[in-house]
Amino acid sequence: MNPRETVVFENGRLAVPDHPAIPYIEGDGIGPDIWKAASRVIDRAVELCWQGERSIVWEEILAGEKAFEETGQWLPPETLEDLRKHRIGIKGPLTTPVGEGFRSLNVTLRQKLDLYACVRPVRWFQGVPSPVREPWKVDMVVFRENTEDVYAGLELEAGSEEALALRAFLQERFGWDIREDAALGVKPISRTGSRRLIRAALEFAVSRGRKSVTLVHKGNIQKFTEGAFRNWGYALAREAYPDKTVAWEDLGENGPGDRVLIKDAIADIFFQQALTRSDEFDVIATMNLNGDYISDALAAQVGGIGMAPGANINYEQGFALFEATHGTAPKYAGQDKVNPSSLILSGAMMLEHMGWSEAARRIERGLESAFARKTVTYDLARLMEGAREVSCSRFADVVCSAMAEEPDGAA
Ligand code: NAP
Repeated sequence: MNPRETVVFENGRLAVPDHPAIPYIEGDGIGPDIWKAASRVIDRAVELCWQGERSIVWEEILAGEKAFEETGQWLPPETLEDLRKHRIGIKGPLTTPVGEGFRSLNVTLRQKLDLYACVRPVRWFQGVPSPVREPWKVDMVVFRENTEDVYAGLELEAGSEEALALRAFLQERFGWDIREDAALGVKPISRTGSRRLIRAALEFAVSRGRKSVTLVHKGNIQKFTEGAFRNWGYALAREAYPDKTVAWEDLGENGPGDRVLIKDAIADIFFQQALTRSDEFDVIATMNLNGDYISDALAAQVGGIGMAPGANINYEQGFALFEATHGTAPKYAGQDKVNPSSLILSGAMMLEHMGWSEAARRIERGLESAFARKTVTYDLARLMEGAREVSCSRFADVVCSAMAEEPDGAA
């Protein structure tokens, strides 16, 4: 058995030992099925790359229904402690318990660990059915702010004493005329929260040699919230990366050269252009609600949410939680049926984050090979002519075999 070692985060850098303990949350509904499949693929990729010199020592932590059954708590404090201690974790989808005093376990995890950046790469894999004509043009990475906006949960019910009191205050103080039966919500967009998210997107774009960062907003309507996000973004790029970025309006005749182009788009037109001119977008930085819509809409272009990986990250504290972006799909629970690619690709993102990039690339090529052979789960099979439908676990077998068939040195 390999020794169990701990990932360390010091001076802003992650130090990953050869046999790190990584906590995982299996998840509810289809969670156990996709976790079994994904962990097998991740382990196999690491084994093929390093023949035992490196391995992951998985450590189960509890959240959701399994946690409630075993401990009486949906999110036991030890789960948060373990994630803090180990810095990196991975999770399947979790049911949102109704009426338990918080809106969602996912939102709670993000808030408790201050995982402010939701990072979702969206790219097409050859052979995957898509509703658009040129899916190969989609290659974007969405940075969605995770802690503010209407997700802050600052809402008052229509007709409640609190809503009436706030309405009266707003009338008296600002002269705002709001209907008496209106529900009220607060949308905080801070300079601090916006800048740290945009900084992460800029850093990613600069360090990976990406072409552009687009700030997506509704600043034409919401000037002081979404408009400010846009302005803070341009200001930060000029201040923090003056030689490595260039704003759209400062672009001279020679174009951006090897600098990252900083531009912005109003959310509604962004949705249109992301469909019609996908290759004009690269890294996207946006607020919480826009980011939620955008991630799913873009995922639809490359095969749906069964294919979309995600990570929630706090770069300053070195916390990162990788996750399947879809939900628990309860009607398929325990049927060994659904597509595990979202969690497999989240695992690849995790390996990349750990600096184990060869294994990440190997997984991507294994998936590419499975799609090219048209050996896929039901969701893709129903859209693919001549496909062979396989179960969730069988799909993992196919990916593992494809990874093993690679000639030596392919990684
Ligand atoms: P969902 O679980 O994402 O499922 C909606 C539909 O998406 C499924 O019926 C299925 O479509 C398709 N789908 C989802 N995952 C798939 C996969 N791996 N492979 C193939 N198809 C997949 O959304 P929901 O039914 O709205 O939510 C159910 C529960 O999940 C709720 O409790 C919700 O709060 C929770 N949730 C959790 C997370 C999270 O943990 N990150 C995210 C979203 C929702 P077809 O029926 O067409 O086959």
